[in-house]
Parts: sequence; structure tokens; C-alpha cells
Amino acid sequence: MDLRDLYQDIILDHGQHPRNFHKLEHASHFANGHNPLCGDRVTVYVELDGDKIKDVSFEGRGCAISQASASLMTEILKGKTLADADALFKSFRAKVTGGDETAVPTELEEDAERLEPLTGVKTYPARVKCATLAWHAFEAALKNGAAGATIKTE
Ligand code: ZN
Repeated sequence: MDLRDLYQDIILDHGQHPRNFHKLEHASHFANGHNPLCGDRVTVYVELDGDKIKDVSFEGRGCAISQASASLMTEILKGKTLADADALFKSFRAKVTGGDETAVPTELEEDAERLEPLTGVKTYPARVKCATLAWHAFEAALKNGAAGATIKTE
């Protein structure tokens, strides 16, 4: 099987059947993300328990990549610590933007690998913002808490 086809399947699957696609009633943090270049919108909800991500969900609409990325992100981040989330985002962002790759701790390698299907966007610069939108919204949510935040990709 061609690996590219497999990756495409994962993106289509998450795009068509997004996981954790709902509002979080007890969100301690949330943020709205907007990618005007593509028209993607993603709202990310987070419920923290100390420095642990007790629950995370999203709502949104947009291209398959933006929605699949948000879906995968929520699956991966649930139960992780904020430090884990930060390490995963840094590594993912470096991969999609072609920046210097940062290694993740061994226990996070499997999660980082699950994001590989999305790193194909690096050859399509216009799509990079689609793939990172949910992560930027997650980051903005943590900074702004229950008051919420709205971010726009530049
Ligand atoms: Zn998009």
C-alpha cells in the first residue's frame, strides 16, 4: 500500500467523522480560531485539572485538513499534561513548517507519529495554516481561560 494513500485515508476519516466534536459544558478555557485564507473555523474547548488536560473538544467547519487536524489533536491531547501538549505542538509545527525538528520525549513518540499524516501539507504552504489552526486555538485558549479568545492566522 502506498503510504500516501494511507495518510489520505486518515485525514478523510477524521474529516468526515470528527472525534470529540462538541461543545464542552465545563470548559475552563476556550478559543475561536479563524483561518481567513481558507475559511476554516475551529473553536477549541479545554477542561484542565491542575496541569492535566482532563478533557478537550472542538467545534468548527472548514476544509478536511483543518477539521481532521482538530479531531486528531483532541484525541491525542486528552489526558496529557500541558508540557506534553507543548512538546507535541512544537514538534508538529516544526514538521509542517519545515523548521528545525524538535524531538519529543520517548513516551510521546507514538502520539507524534499519529500526526504524521498531516505533515504532508509542508509541500503546500497555503495548507499549513489549515493544519495548525486547532493547535494555535488550543494555545490561545490556555492563555485566555474561560473568557475565551479569538485568533486569526496571519
Ligand atoms: Zn483549510
